[in-house]
Amino acid sequence: MPSRIQNQPLHKDFSGIEKEFEVCLSNGFPMLFFPDNIEKQFLCDTQESRKRSFLVTGLIAVFLYNLFLLTDIQMVPDIWKLAWTIRICIITPSMLLLLMAIKKNWLNSKLEYIVDLLVMITTVSIIIIYDLSDHHNASYYHTGIILSVMFGNIVVRLRFWHAFIISWTTFILYIVIVNRIHNFEPANIMNSIIVCFTATAISQVANYQMELDERYNYLRSKIKEITNLRLSISRDELERISTIDELTGIANRRLFDSAFDKEWRVALRYQAPISLIFMDIDEFKAFNDFYGHQAGDECLKKVARLIKTNVHRPHDLCARYGGEEFVILLSDTCLDSAMVIAEKMRHSLDSAKIPHQNSKVADHVTACFGVACLIPSIEGFHSELLENADKALYMAKESGKNTVIPYTSKIGCK
Ligand code: GH3
Ligand code: MG
Ligand code: MG
Repeated sequence: MPSRIQNQPLHKDFSGIEKEFEVCLSNGFPMLFFPDNIEKQFLCDTQESRKRSFLVTGLIAVFLYNLFLLTDIQMVPDIWKLAWTIRICIITPSMLLLLMAIKKNWLNSKLEYIVDLLVMITTVSIIIIYDLSDHHNASYYHTGIILSVMFGNIVVRLRFWHAFIISWTTFILYIVIVNRIHNFEPANIMNSIIVCFTATAISQVANYQMELDERYNYLRSKIKEITNLRLSISRDELERISTIDELTGIANRRLFDSAFDKEWRVALRYQAPISLIFMDIDEFKAFNDFYGHQAGDECLKKVARLIKTNVHRPHDLCARYGGEEFVILLSDTCLDSAMVIAEKMRHSLDSAKIPHQNSKVADHVTACFGVACLIPSIEGFHSELLENADKALYMAKESGKNTVIPYTSKIGCK
């Protein structure tokens, strides 16, 4: 029997965490933090997809950042060589190194901080170039800073609180250096500060909204995942209930019928022998009459356990056929081997010595076994094998009980 059938239902295990997700969803999370355990799970579940997205956006950032090499010569002609050195020799290799660290999982637990650093060094390098130049064109450099902040907030989608610190630190740095630009009219300074402020604020709002949506979607998908899991477990549970005999816990007749049908077809295709053992407890009515129905039930459970211990191969099946009758399906097994197994079963039951004072056969519970074997043919039916095993069982009852009888053509002619 598949072991999953023995598993206990898991419904209860999910209800706690499902409730936590639901409470979190209904309470909201305006500060963009889940309760501790959900937050940990969220960071862990989203890490892989964020890593992939960081690698792509990181490479785009390297390309866009170096695109400005083309304008450095005109915009900061006094320090363009220094600007190129900063871009090509310091910042680009640092960006590539950090991207490599992400790709190689060198600092997996610090992933978000690596990306913060990437955005920060890019932005700061633009501010430094801006600050070092005395050329009046340098005043246009604030557009580079705005682009960098927006890229971090909207394209890379830094986590909101990280983005908050980086964006506003950048803005403060900008205010500090903007006043040091030569030939920059106060009116233009004011305007560029307001433009920077607005760009930072807009991209922060977008960043906040995106993270909020991401977190809502995460919770909804988790709740859906649990619902689906619960449904599939219920399906398994239903299947288990419909194929297991409630009293003994072994397969019921329904499972036997479908397994028999399947194994019969396999045996037909490979022209392999298939065997059946029919077993019936002796004098069971007398057992019930003497010990009561409840004790009878307990006896059936013990007998089921005993016969099951003699069946080991994965395709073999022990089932309760009905009442005090059991059937054992043995695929790819010849009559001699099936007889050996049946005899072992009879012997284990006999040696278990379950008391049965009311039996005419022995002072303990015994059983009869009818064994039959066939190599299926196209024109044959699997009911034939059942009938043969039943006939052999009848013979076993006739010949004094507590015995194993094989089906032979002699029995068939009788
Ligand atoms: P034989 O040796 O010829 O097989 O005689 P028997 O008494 O075992 O057979 P019979 O068919 O006359 O009686 C079967 C009994 O099994 C009758 C019924 O009360 C009992 N039985 C069937 N199902 C259950 C069950 O689920 N629990 C209990 N306790 N008894 C059952
Ligand atoms: Mg019977
Ligand atoms: Mg019986």
